[in-house]
Amino acid sequence: MPFSPSVSRSAKLEALMAGEGEGRSIGIDLGTSYSCVAAWKRDHVEIIPNEQGNRTTPSHVAFSDSHRLIGDAANTQFAYNPFNTVFDAKRLIGCKFSDPTVQSDMNYWPFKVIPGTDNKPMIAVTYKGEEKQFSPEEISSMVLIKMKDIAEAYLGSTVKNAVVTVPAYFNDSQRQATMAAGAIAGLNILRIINEPTAAAIAYGLDNGVTSSEPKNVLIFDLGGGTFDVSVATIEAYDIVVKAIAGDTHLGGQDMDNRMVDHFSKEFEKKTGKDISGNAKAMRRLRNACERAKRGLSSAFETPIEIESLIDGIDMFSTISRVTFDDLNMDLFNKCMELVEKCVSDAKMEKSSVDEVLLVGGSSRIPKLQEMLKEFFDGKEVRKTINPDEAVAYGAAVLAAKLSGEGNEKVQKLILFEVTPLSLGVEIMGHLMSVCIPRNTPIPTRRVCTYRTLYDNQTAAGILVYEGERSKSKDNNLLGEFTLKGLPAAPRGDVEVKVCFEIDENGILNVSAEHIQTGIKDNITITNDKARLSNKEIERMIRDATKYKEEDEAFREKVKARSNLEDYAYKMRNSIRGAAKITAKDKKKMEDAFDSFKKWLESNKHAEVAHYINKMNELETVFNPIIATMN
Ligand code: ADP
Ligand code: MG
Repeated sequence: MPFSPSVSRSAKLEALMAGEGEGRSIGIDLGTSYSCVAAWKRDHVEIIPNEQGNRTTPSHVAFSDSHRLIGDAANTQFAYNPFNTVFDAKRLIGCKFSDPTVQSDMNYWPFKVIPGTDNKPMIAVTYKGEEKQFSPEEISSMVLIKMKDIAEAYLGSTVKNAVVTVPAYFNDSQRQATMAAGAIAGLNILRIINEPTAAAIAYGLDNGVTSSEPKNVLIFDLGGGTFDVSVATIEAYDIVVKAIAGDTHLGGQDMDNRMVDHFSKEFEKKTGKDISGNAKAMRRLRNACERAKRGLSSAFETPIEIESLIDGIDMFSTISRVTFDDLNMDLFNKCMELVEKCVSDAKMEKSSVDEVLLVGGSSRIPKLQEMLKEFFDGKEVRKTINPDEAVAYGAAVLAAKLSGEGNEKVQKLILFEVTPLSLGVEIMGHLMSVCIPRNTPIPTRRVCTYRTLYDNQTAAGILVYEGERSKSKDNNLLGEFTLKGLPAAPRGDVEVKVCFEIDENGILNVSAEHIQTGIKDNITITNDKARLSNKEIERMIRDATKYKEEDEAFREKVKARSNLEDYAYKMRNSIRGAAKITAKDKKKMEDAFDSFKKWLESNKHAEVAHYINKMNELETVFNPIIATMN
C-alpha cells in the first residue's frame, strides 16, 4: 500500500509527546475511600476534576429502584439508601468471606455481604427492585469506569490504558483481583504499581531529579483503609524501593469505628437508647464522627451534633484531640512499629532518612505527625506534596512513560520495586520454606530445590504460600498443584526444582520440574478457586457494558423529563404573564398545566417516549394560545 511511514509516524509521535490523541493513558489511584485520576498533558501532569469539580471522587457505588450512581452522587444519597450504597470494596477485594478481617468489617457495613461460591465474598444489593450480587472486583470496576469517564470528559478523547495503584502491602490475590477489576472496566492495565512508590515518583519528579545526590525518602501513606510505609532511595531519575511494610486493614475508617463505638456507648448511657441495630442512625453517626475527626486535625476540640438521631432524640457532644488520640493510640503505635520495621528492613539507620513524605488523608492527623517527628529525632515531616493527589500523580507519570506520552524527563525515569511478602512452599512438618524473601527487588526469578520425603514417592504436592510466619498454615495459601510421575527411588534421591517468578506487577508464577525426566507443571496463581476465571471476567465485562447503557438510558430519561418540565413551566409563565390573552385560554392553560403536574407526579420513571408524547400533547394545547399572543 503506498503511504509514507516516516511522515505519519513522526506526526503520531509528536501528538503522543504532547499527550494528545485518542486512546490516552491515565493514572488511577483506586482508593478505599476516595479515588483520584490524573493524566499527562503537554509537559506536566494534571489532576483531573470530576463533573462536580472535585479532584477526588468517593469510591462509592449506589443502586436504587431506578438507577445506579457512582462517586459524589452515590455519596450524597447515602443516608437515604444505606443498604444499597456500597463502599470499601477495596477492603474485600482478593479476600475470602471467612477472613477474620472481612468478618469484623461486616459489622460496620450497612450493605449485605454474603458467602459466594468458593468462599468468595459477594455484595448483595437491591437494584431496580431485584436482588443482585456483585463481586468486589465488579464494584471496583464501576469506580474505575467512573474515573475513566471523568478523564475522557476532561481530555476530550477516549482513554484506553491505565496504571492503577494498589497498597504496597497488597498480596498476590489482591493484586490479581485489582487487575481483574481493570479488565472488567475495559481498561488495558499498563501496570499495577504500589501507592507509596507512585508517591515517590511524584516527589522524585518534583525534587529528586534536580539533585544528583541520592536521597533516602520514607513514604508514610495512611488512607481510609490501608497503611503502607516504604523506604526508597531517589537518585537522579532512579527510584529504588528498599523496603515496604504495612497493613491492609489499618486506616482512617478504623478510627471512625472507634469514635462510633465511643459515641454510641455514650449516647446509650445518656438516653438508654441503643442505636447499633439502626443502620441509618449508625451511618449518620459515622458521618458525623468522620467530620469531627477531620476537624480535630486543626482544632483541639470539636462539637458533634446530630439532630433526631433516633426516636426524635438529638445527640449533642464534643470530642477533644486528647480523647481522639487516646481512642486510637494503639493504631498510631502500630503505624510507628511498621515505620521502624521498614527502616530496619531497608538496612538503614533512621538518621539516614533524609525526607519523610506524608501521603493519604489520615496522614494529616497531628498526633501521628508528632510521633513521626519524634521517631526521626526532630526531623520535620514534608507536607509540600498534596497527600490526596500524590499517588495518582505518580501513576500518571508512569502511564505516560509506558505509553510514550511523556516528555524526555519522564522517559528517563527508572523504577525498582520490591516484593512485600515472602513467598515459599510448605515442607516437612508444615513449615514454610521461603524461596523469595520479602523486600526482594522485582521482577525476579528464583529456583529452589526440594527433595522427596518418602521412599518411592512418585508425586510431590507443591503448596505455595506467602507470609512471614514459620508455620505454613499461619500464612496465606496462594495455590497448589501436584507434580506427578516422579521416578520411584529412596527418599531424598529425587530432586524437584521449584521456580518462582514475579513480574513487574508483583504477580507470581510458580513452576516445578523434575530435571532428569523433564516432568513439569506450573501455575500462575490464577487457578485458586476464589479468583475470577476468564469466563467470569468476560461475563462481567458484558454486564458492565449493560449497566453503562442502562445508566445512559436513565440519564436520557432524566433529560427528557427535565426538558418537558422546563417547557411546561416556561409556557405557563409566559401565558400567565401575557396581556393579550382571553380568560378562557388562561383557564385552558392552567387546567392543562395542573393535569400535567399530576401526570408528572405519578409517572416518575416513565420512558423517554412517554415524555415526548406528553410534550406533543402539551404543545397542541399551548401552541394555539401562544399564537394568539403574537
Ligand atoms: P484511601 O486512599 O484509602 O481512599 P485517602 O487517602 O483518600 O484514603 O484518605 C481518606 C481517609 O483520610 C479517610 O478516612 C478520611 O477520614 C481521612 N482524612 C481526610 N482528611 C483528614 C483530616 N484532615 N484529618 C484526619 N483524617 C482525614
Ligand atoms: Mg490512597
